[in-house]
Amino acid sequence: MDMITISDLEVFAYHGVLKEENSLGQKFLISAELYMDISEAARDDDITKSLDYTSICKEISDFLKKNTFKLIETIADRLAKYLLIKHDNLNEVSIKIKKPWAPILMTLDTVSVSVSRKWHQVYLGLGSNMGDREDYIKKAIALLDKEEDCKVIRVSALRNTKPVGPVIQDDFLNGALCMKTLKTPQELLALIHKIEMKLERVRDIHWGPRTIDLDILLFDDYIIQSEDLTIPHVEMDKRLFVLEPMAEIAPWLRHPIYDKTMKELFDNQVRQCRA
Ligand code: AMP
Repeated sequence: MDMITISDLEVFAYHGVLKEENSLGQKFLISAELYMDISEAARDDDITKSLDYTSICKEISDFLKKNTFKLIETIADRLAKYLLIKHDNLNEVSIKIKKPWAPILMTLDTVSVSVSRKWHQVYLGLGSNMGDREDYIKKAIALLDKEEDCKVIRVSALRNTKPVGPVIQDDFLNGALCMKTLKTPQELLALIHKIEMKLERVRDIHWGPRTIDLDILLFDDYIIQSEDLTIPHVEMDKRLFVLEPMAEIAPWLRHPIYDKTMKELFDNQVRQCRA
């Protein structure tokens, strides 16, 4: 991917664990790699279609001067996210923060921290079978979109579906959405749980009725198997109530394990249900 690089921008600021660092201040050197598609800007020789590095340097300097953090880890993480949220055309940012005057009573060149942050493409499954089902789903989408590091891009139609599993319960309304996020999979799972709790989700019967159910179906092309998180979502390849909305909003998208598109998985499942 194309990239603009800023190297060792010098900023005097007040970050550090020691209180002397917060009062006396010191020099920080900031390097940034800004990943974006600059082909249009280059074709049209037009700075408005790229990023103006003068203003980016000013934003970096202002960010370091306006905030005070203990750790250069925190500066790097927050600065990368700040730039990604502020500039729509940025896909990924790497930041390196060097501290040449680190107060360790020894001589060194620099201490530094590097981070890379990017927008992840995520697909969520949506479901509800209690109360005003559409309203619960719309509220969940609004709560996701309200987070500054989440942007909902596309939502499928919502469909009435019959419940799957052993519990006798009302029909579901199901759908899927595509969003981008700066969160890690675990952070997104925590957000989903927070939204489910806010929307009165009670976890008393496994597979039972719920005001809202949010599932992480796909997270980039990650494959995760941990104690509390499985991505791609378990059995999403077999569930029509997941595959139908996914085939609507991303028919070309490949399942990272089965290497089949959502449309192929949906068509297979329809064929199997008919057989
Ligand atoms: P559910 O009943 O669908 O809300 O799921 C309950 C639990 O499934 C959650 O507490 C998660 O820890 C776990 N889980 C595992 N993988 C996922 C995933 N991909 N998306 C959401 N929940 C997941």
